[in-house]
Amino acid sequence: MPDFQAILETIYQNALQAPDKGTVATYIPELAHISQDNFGIHLRTSDGKSYGVGHFNKPFSIQSISKVLALSKAMSLIGESIWKRIDVEPSGHPFNQLALLEIENGIPRNPFINSGAIVIADILLSNLKHPKSDFLNYVRDLTNDNTIEYNEAVAHSEKMTGFKNYAAANLLKSFKNLENPVDDVLDFYFHQCSLEMTCGQLTKTFSFLANQGTCMLNKTRLSESQVKRINALMLTCGFYDEAGEFAFEVGLPGKSGVGGGIVALLPHHFTIATWAPGLNKKGNSKLGMLALEAFTSQTKLSIF
Ligand code: GLN
Repeated sequence: MPDFQAILETIYQNALQAPDKGTVATYIPELAHISQDNFGIHLRTSDGKSYGVGHFNKPFSIQSISKVLALSKAMSLIGESIWKRIDVEPSGHPFNQLALLEIENGIPRNPFINSGAIVIADILLSNLKHPKSDFLNYVRDLTNDNTIEYNEAVAHSEKMTGFKNYAAANLLKSFKNLENPVDDVLDFYFHQCSLEMTCGQLTKTFSFLANQGTCMLNKTRLSESQVKRINALMLTCGFYDEAGEFAFEVGLPGKSGVGGGIVALLPHHFTIATWAPGLNKKGNSKLGMLALEAFTSQTKLSIF
């Protein structure tokens, strides 16, 4: 068994030396004042051991990482019929790009670009009695942690500035790919993205995807086949127009968010989460990508 704590510490120190630490996202004003100096990594193995360095216990805005959790809830509710409304192909474009959506008649390329996640939000709205609290409880249950909360200030801040998401939702509505009113769907979507979690919580939350669908409460959340599909989507679409680069450098299914978080996993082995708010030009955490590349290179633990 490798000395994971020592490996994480070396990787952390090396990444801190990087001359370019990326740029904090400012298009959601509430995220703009998060210090670029935050940096944490947490690893949880499938046999229950955990290792952390830096700010792994500090909550941050998980943003698009939440799209994986929304998808898994939607899959548990309506199964394969999701794929009548969303495709499963990488987009090769930024997360908020709209051109493809119009060309492809309102069918989003995948559930992790914004338009796809907005359709998933619509599905949850149609199928949950109390969408925001039911979804929050779902995430808390996956993690076995009742302290997880939405950040209302972040949700509100995005609502005030989310013009492209309004455009996407209106386009989806015009193609009859939204059942609920645009404002209701986006209110849910902005809350989902505003979830705050630590790296230590994220490695728990995502452990059901490393453990054939079994969550921290030992409950089966998804079938093995559904887990396979979500992990495949993370590998091919989890980093937008940098999905190829992440597979090439890191070699794990994973998902990023503009809050600077990344979660990745090796089925049957571990989940790992990083947080460093400085982003590269494609909107993915600069130090997070560096750290994960170093981790899989040093440990030789990747799906390849
Ligand atoms: N809430 C963000 C948005 O819709 C999520 C984007 C992201 O994390 N990549 O723009």
